[in-house]
Amino acid sequence: MPKPEKQGVLEHAARIESLARLQDAVIGARLDDELYGLLRSQGARDVFRSVLLETTFFSPEMRPSLIEQGAINNGVFWYSEEVLRRDQHDVAEAVDEEGTHCPVARYQGFRHAVVTAYDHRCALCSIRVLTLDGHTAVDASHIKPRSLGRDDCPANGRALCKLCHWSFDGGLLGLSRHCTVVSSAQLSARTTSPGT
Ligand SMILES: [Zn+2]
Repeated sequence: MPKPEKQGVLEHAARIESLARLQDAVIGARLDDELYGLLRSQGARDVFRSVLLETTFFSPEMRPSLIEQGAINNGVFWYSEEVLRRDQHDVAEAVDEEGTHCPVARYQGFRHAVVTAYDHRCALCSIRVLTLDGHTAVDASHIKPRSLGRDDCPANGRALCKLCHWSFDGGLLGLSRHCTVVSSAQLSARTTSPGT
């Protein structure tokens, strides 16, 4: 369904070259009611995914990596849902029994939950950068290290932009016992302003 002012884009373009340009041109998609009902079922989605991957849209060489990526995306979604559910019910124990989710899905699921909770804004400098493709300038990091309890609940996470994340990891910034941000004496005031 095109945006009213972008009607001609979909009518005249043979194809849209990027996801960003597509998102810029459309409001969304209207689905057949029966298809929409089926897509709400996990089992039906798995079947549709398999059928799509078996079609000639994708080369045989691409299929294994697409299947692998699909499984990771699926794991990210479910892990993210799980940590949010546990956070809402204040369940304190570790979310993941090691081995249930692969490390990539675990980190990405944790990241998705934290970054969404912070609305893609850095907890320290408040910068917020979000592209039409959904890429964001912030990472998720653990407040209490994951190695000390495997706590992936969003309450144990904070969203940090790349620079703040790097500064924390490098010991240039830290938190005081009163939860205020403190900077290392190694930071020179002369080097922290643009253009100096
Ligand atoms: Zn920042």
